[in-house]
Parts: sequence; C-alpha cells; structure tokens
Amino acid sequence: MSDPLNKKERCPLCGGLNRCQSETPVSSRQGACWCRSEIFPVALLAQLPESERNSRCICRGCLKAFQAQQDKP
Ligand SMILES: [Zn+2]
Repeated sequence: MSDPLNKKERCPLCGGLNRCQSETPVSSRQGACWCRSEIFPVALLAQLPESERNSRCICRGCLKAFQAQQDKP
C-alpha cells in the first residue's frame, strides 16, 4: 500500500526512513537537516527516477554506502 503522505519520509533507494528535516514539522526541527551538510554525488542521484530526484531525500545509510563504494580503488 502506498501512502503519498508518508512517501517523502522514505528513501527512494532502500525505502527506509530518510529522517530529512525538510519533512519534519518546523516546531520539532533541530537545526538544518543532515542532508544540508552532505554532498550527494551526481552518480548517486542518477540512480533515482527523474521524478524522485528533487522530491525525495536519500537516507544517510544509502549515501554512506555509496561513498564507501566510491572510496574503493
Ligand atoms: Zn536509503
């Protein structure tokens, strides 16, 4: 079952919670979202369908996993 209200809280790659502060109500935000201080590589964003690219956040787990892959020789 898909719920469009909850969709934005989910990572488009793994379906886990992305914990993006942009999707958190202002009253319960704790500073800027972690994603503001991270760089999302173009190659990672390229894995997403075009429609998801600017609408959903990738979770930290997927970002870290991608970075780890890139670090390998
Ligand atoms: Zn993810």
